[in-house]
Amino acid sequence: MLITHEHEEIQRTLKRFIDEEINPHVDEWEAAEEFPAHQVFKRLGELGLLGLTKPADYGGMALDYSYSVIMAETLGHVNCGAIPMAIGVQTDMCTPALARFGSDALKRQFLAPAIAGDMVGCIGVSEPGAGSDVASIKTTAKKSGDDYVINGAKMWITNSLQADWMCVLANTSEGAAHKNKSLIMVPMNTPGVTRAKKIRKIGMMASDTGLIHFDDVRVPQSHRVGEEGMGFTYQMMQFQEERLWAAANAIQGLLNCIEETITYTRERQIFGASVLDNQVVHFKLAELKTEVESLRGLVYMATEKYIAGQDVTEWASMAKLKSSRLLRTVPDACMQYWGGMGYTWDNRVSRLYRDGRLASIAGGADEVMLGIISKYMHILPARG
Ligand SMILES: Cc1cc2nc3c(=O)[nH]c(=O)nc-3n(C[C@H](O)[C@H](O)[C@H](O)COP(=O)(O)OP(=O)(O)OC[C@H]3O[C@@H](n4cnc5c(N)ncnc54)[C@H](O)[C@@H]3O)c2cc1C
Repeated sequence: MLITHEHEEIQRTLKRFIDEEINPHVDEWEAAEEFPAHQVFKRLGELGLLGLTKPADYGGMALDYSYSVIMAETLGHVNCGAIPMAIGVQTDMCTPALARFGSDALKRQFLAPAIAGDMVGCIGVSEPGAGSDVASIKTTAKKSGDDYVINGAKMWITNSLQADWMCVLANTSEGAAHKNKSLIMVPMNTPGVTRAKKIRKIGMMASDTGLIHFDDVRVPQSHRVGEEGMGFTYQMMQFQEERLWAAANAIQGLLNCIEETITYTRERQIFGASVLDNQVVHFKLAELKTEVESLRGLVYMATEKYIAGQDVTEWASMAKLKSSRLLRTVPDACMQYWGGMGYTWDNRVSRLYRDGRLASIAGGADEVMLGIISKYMHILPARG
């Protein structure tokens, strides 16, 4: 993937915004366990950063996916995982299917304001009883006149406590689990939608993660994204961008973690020498950097294939898997060299240790990625 002048321009604009308008507030937002999504998104919208790959007709810049990857990478400069994740949900998780398959009216109502930063979106796939096994979701959307009536619950939904709309995956008919689902745009102020609970977590503190109930929620059938029964397929396509984004987003935070560990261990003296001067320490940090740069290679290769129109399910899954593994091993190894300081709450390395742990679980657990890769390798046993 070639980094052009235009990519660098986006990196510069976003980095300046992060340094001036996000990082000064991160500790406060993490402590408060929330951040002002509308305020932050409005500024990002004004900078043109919420629609890099989205159609120009709706306020986007119609750039190729490498620009999303560069934006995800640059967001790694934010001093926590929660805010990049909230932004990634808006740009690459709840909007790709809408942009690709939604009607013009739907895009004007929900996509254009999301790109402008006037609306916050979220994606509702997971439920209290179904996460990894997406096909087994229970939420239903039954036809009634020109409407759908939605009943069920969505669990773990990022941005959902502040969101203006949710792109909901629901069963719109009986029948085969991969062909009976649709994606439906639901304004969060529709009667019957309840923001039932804010879920407390061990990391991603500033991110709002909600349990949302739907009780006889009535929306027009015209709120369906694309064709009825195609929701599972659309969501699987949408996951490719989500997974590439997540893998790209890991890179810079991991590199910063290594850099900060170098700075700290160079200063810290034990047994008459700096911690860094122990070969076991600097060799380990060199090894970790090599691993992170290999991840970047994998992400860029997957992105090139994606831009070329290839099916990157296997590559995006490998990138997601590798980034999740590194988000566990790199902060863990770095934390060791910080001694007791690494075990304190307000330390960048311990924050990445907690925030990064999510990657192996959400957006497709590591085992789900391994299952997909095995399938593409033709070594996954058929289920009886
Ligand atoms: C902070 C946070 C934010 C989230 N944001 C969103 C969101 O915005 N929208 C949304 O829809 N969802 C969201 N999720 C949900 C997330 O995607 C799910 O938690 C995830 O898919 C796992 O589902 P589950 O929690 O139901 O775990 P389960 O499906 O019950 O899986 C439990 C464990 O089983 C293991 N496992 C899974 N499959 C296999 C297998 N084939 N073989 C062996 N072991 C396996 C894995 O280790 C997995 O962690 C979020 C979750 C969290 C924690």
